Parts: sequence; C-alpha cells; structure tokens
Amino acid sequence: MTPYDASPAQAVIRSPRLIDGFGRAVTYLRVSVTDRCDLRCTYCMAEHMTFLPKAEVLSLEELDRLASAFVGLGARKLRLTGGEPLVRKGIMTLVERLSRHLRSGDLDELTLTTNGTQLAAHAADLARLGVRRINVSLDTLKPDLFRKLTRGGDLAKVLAGIDAALAAGLRVKINAVALRHDNAQELPALIQWAHGLGADMTLIETMPLGEVEVDRTDQYLSLRDVRRDLASFWTLTDLAYATGGPARYVRVEETGGRLGFITPLSHNFCEACNRVRLTCTGTLHTCLGRDDASDLRAVLRGGADEAGLERAIFAAIGAKPQGHDFHIDAARPAVARHMSTTGG
Ligand code: SAM
Ligand code: SF4
Repeated sequence: MTPYDASPAQAVIRSPRLIDGFGRAVTYLRVSVTDRCDLRCTYCMAEHMTFLPKAEVLSLEELDRLASAFVGLGARKLRLTGGEPLVRKGIMTLVERLSRHLRSGDLDELTLTTNGTQLAAHAADLARLGVRRINVSLDTLKPDLFRKLTRGGDLAKVLAGIDAALAAGLRVKINAVALRHDNAQELPALIQWAHGLGADMTLIETMPLGEVEVDRTDQYLSLRDVRRDLASFWTLTDLAYATGGPARYVRVEETGGRLGFITPLSHNFCEACNRVRLTCTGTLHTCLGRDDASDLRAVLRGGADEAGLERAIFAAIGAKPQGHDFHIDAARPAVARHMSTTGG
C-alpha cells in the first residue's frame, strides 16, 4: 500500500512528511555506511585513497538514529551502500537494528549495494533479517580485466557471493558501469549471463564524480549507443517497470530478462527524484549531481533531541535542488566528492 492508498483518516498519518520545495515526496534514503572499500575501481577511486579518520565517521548507533529519523518522517526504502558496506565492522548489527522497521511495517524495503566480495559470508544473514533483494556491482566476467578494473580484486569471490545470495533466496540485480575501452564489447555476454541467473541487469554511464586519475571522457560510453547496438541483434521492449530509481527498463525478448539503463548524462531524471543520500559522516546530500550538503552529524553530536533532528532534516529537504547539472569534463569532476563518499 502506498501512502496515497490509505483512507482520509489514515492518510494524515501515512502521508509522506518529507516534501521538497518542488512537491516531490522524499521516500528513499541511501546511506553510505563507510567510505572504505576492499577494491579500487578505476572510475570510482584513486589508487591511493586517504580515508576518513574514525572520529569523523558516524557510529553504528548514530547511523541507526539518523536512518530511523528518516523512516519516522516517511522514508519507505533504505539502501545501505558505501564505499563497500560489507567491509564496515559491525554492519550486520546495523542491518539487524534497521530491520525492526520492516517488522513494524514502517519500511517497505531494506537493501544494499555491494561489490559482492564479502557476500558469501553475509547472504544468509541478510535474507534472515528481511533483505529481499540486493544490487551487486560487476563490470566484467574476465578475471584479468576484473583485477585491472578494481586494481587487484578477485572475481571468484564475487561470483561465490552472487551464488550464495541466490542460494539464500535473495533477488540479485547486477550493475555494470559501461566503459568504452574495457567492457563495451563484453556487455551482451554480461547481460546474457545475468539473465541466465534470473537476475536483472542495469547499465550505468560513468559519472564525473571525484578525482580518479583517469580520463573519464575517454571511457565515457553513451548508453544511447549501447542500446542501439543491442537493438541491432536483440528485441528490446520498453517496460513501465520502475524501482523508484532513475533506471529506464526494457525486456530483452531473447533472454527473457530485464535490462535497465541509468543515463544521468544523456537524460534528465530529476523530475521524479524521490531520494536523498546520507554519507558516513552524517552529511545529507539531496542531489547526487550538486555540491549541496547539510551537516546532520553536527546536529546529532550537538545533542539535538528528536524534534531538533527532524527540524534539521526538514530544512535540508526543503532546500533540495530542482535538478543536477552534470557535464562530462576530463579536466574537472562536476562534483568534487567521490561516488564512494556519496554512496552511488
Ligand atoms: N562498493 C559498492 C559497489 O561497488 O556496489 C557500493 C558503492 S559503489 C560507489 C555504488 C555504485 O556506484 C557501483 O555500482 C559503482 O559501479 C558505481 N560507480 C562508482 N563510481 C562511479 C562513477 N564515477 N560513475 C558511475 N557509476 C559509478
Ligand atoms: Fe569500491 Fe564500489 Fe567504488 Fe568499486 S565502485 S571502488 S567496489 S566503492
């Protein structure tokens, strides 16, 4: 049931309370639980990253308090991300705490985006705690290319993680960043493989976030071109299916699977944006493509009570920008922060 399905009396209680200045209800919170990661994907991170000192990172209790405040204000979906969420110490304690909102019915979905390297150890617990589906990022099925793209990663671990997730009954969506020189040729095979597992697949255009030491204009591949290529040998049928995210979906008739395209640079998906992002330092970004930020950690650590925290959240949501302004530019990222800080 959506908040709008309720009877008038219930609607008062259930209506989303986080409405931005453009009338969009904010119902989806992505929480980056750490800036750290066990991989160094070339388009995401620099090889030698300086990670945040522990004191700056929210504790598990603080993450729970902030995320739960959003749930109290009408957020229906929480996604944990990072950095790599499964490398955060105690992450399953946080999942367990947040899962109380699923049991109470205040939350429709608790999910995460992961690189899959630690998934084999956690998949069963995630399923037990009420996680129903997860996104696993994987750009290639070639072990050597995977090692190169991630600067040292072991593909076998990710594949074992995906197997464990499927065995635990989790629905898996594979996310791949489309890279002109590295995986463009392999995309049809990757899509076929994902659909063979019963997984949805989403392709993502490279976004100019953070300094990463590589020239992203060089790797940029327009998904409009990818779609045209795929359509030359597959039948792609547009679907109305939406996950609340910016992906546009098609069904690949030959594989029977769903394929999404996230094209932040060639399309504007801001008009239906229902999401905001909280970093592991408690900074709330209401738009992935802008440098707007509200420091909720300062509010939290300044001793705010629940009402004070809610006021700070309302003020931040009220200032959510209408849309982003990405331009792919080799010399300068459009937004200074890395994807691993904001959480994708
Ligand atoms: N470590 C986890 C993972 O890789 O799934 C979660 C965090 S990661 C930042 C989230 C997603 O952002 C991944 O699918 C990754 O491929 C994508 N990503 C990272 N940097 C990107 C960029 N510059 N452009 C587009 N997608 C990016
Ligand atoms: Fe780590 Fe994910 Fe960024 Fe790759 S995309 S470096 S796995 S945070």
